[in-house]
Amino acid sequence: MKTRGYIQRALEECRIAIYVSFSLSALLYSYVFPVHDQCELGHTSCMMCGMRHAIYFLIHLQPFRAFQCNKLILALVFIIVIMLIDIFHITGRNKAENFLL
Ligand SMILES: [Zn+2]
Repeated sequence: MKTRGYIQRALEECRIAIYVSFSLSALLYSYVFPVHDQCELGHTSCMMCGMRHAIYFLIHLQPFRAFQCNKLILALVFIIVIMLIDIFHITGRNKAENFLL
């Protein structure tokens, strides 16, 4: 029986820690401690303008309204899907190895 090395397991745990910290910091920045910058006052605009509303609509399963708020929501959805696939892949493999041991 061949098991994965310690380095590979450590890298997988690092990836999961990065995913969790990325998600938590995005939620904290967006909803718990929102930063009110010049964009919200209407003085300027940046490429992230409307992203908070886009995430809100995405969470409420309104993808077309989310896309209307900010088109970069597609990139965020792509990143989230890749993160979820990687997490399921890692946890599924860990479950299978623990079952065999
Ligand atoms: Zn902005």
